[in-house]
Amino acid sequence: MRLRNKTAVVTGAASGIGREIALAYAREGAKVAIADLNQAGADTVAAEIKKLGGTAVGVAMDVTDEAQVDNGIDKVAAALGGVDILVSNAGIQIVHPLVEFPFADWKKMLAIHLDGAFLTTRAALRHMYKSKRGGSVIYMGSVHSKLASPLKAPYVTAKHGLLGLCRSVAKEGAPYGVRANVICPGFVRTPLVDKQIPEQAKALGISEEDVIKKIMLKDTVDGEFTTLADVAEAAVFFAGFGSNAITGQSLIVSHGWHME
Ligand code: NAD
Repeated sequence: MRLRNKTAVVTGAASGIGREIALAYAREGAKVAIADLNQAGADTVAAEIKKLGGTAVGVAMDVTDEAQVDNGIDKVAAALGGVDILVSNAGIQIVHPLVEFPFADWKKMLAIHLDGAFLTTRAALRHMYKSKRGGSVIYMGSVHSKLASPLKAPYVTAKHGLLGLCRSVAKEGAPYGVRANVICPGFVRTPLVDKQIPEQAKALGISEEDVIKKIMLKDTVDGEFTTLADVAEAAVFFAGFGSNAITGQSLIVSHGWHME
């Protein structure tokens, strides 16, 4: 068990990638808080973990709401005994051509991906610094932290921004033993991606099959989606790595879609 005696908060963990990371952390011995806008979903994942013999709590949290984040993280720290690991993962996708992008949707995207990352980081760091146990902050970036695709201007902007936040946390957190890293997945079949396939097909005037083959998986080495397990394994690695040797980094988990 690589995360025995650790406590973790995973945002957006009622679904998809966050849920898989929460389950993997619990299997590795961590006590896990499932923080999500969707309280019922968060409680369901927490119940799943408890059924498997782990420790978990569901927390209702809109990551864009300062008070909800501060109170939620404080409650988790009190319930589980501190915060050793934060996975800032909550996210959504909205696609439009740039010239048609509604300003309200632009602001919503940046609020969830960047304000949410900042607020949860700030709240978690306060506990990590106080406990003197160090910690690991992990951001869910994307291949879109490294490159752009049409129709995704705010997503690409926000995912690039997470690299900057990660590097800032790496610098400021180091004296306290806090590391920060970004995971950059390729396309993973989750509700977030399933929703985009028909939307992109419509916006680009092509079939859904072509969206998958000719856009999403075109540049991978094997035409395969990245799996939930692939991303969760990277999250366990960053959470469990024990020194400042790996901090301020980003790891692309994308079947070779992007290489650097
Ligand atoms: P998902 O839709 O399956 O899950 C996202 C979760 O975030 C949901 O449970 C939702 O309720 C929650 N959420 C949304 N807004 C929130 C808010 N304001 N506060 C708290 N929770 C909120 O999506 P996913 O595919 O698992 O995506 C998770 C993360 O991974 C996102 O940051 C996404 O950008 C990133 N990502 C996904 C892929 C992919 O292909 N699926 C690839 C790269 C990066």
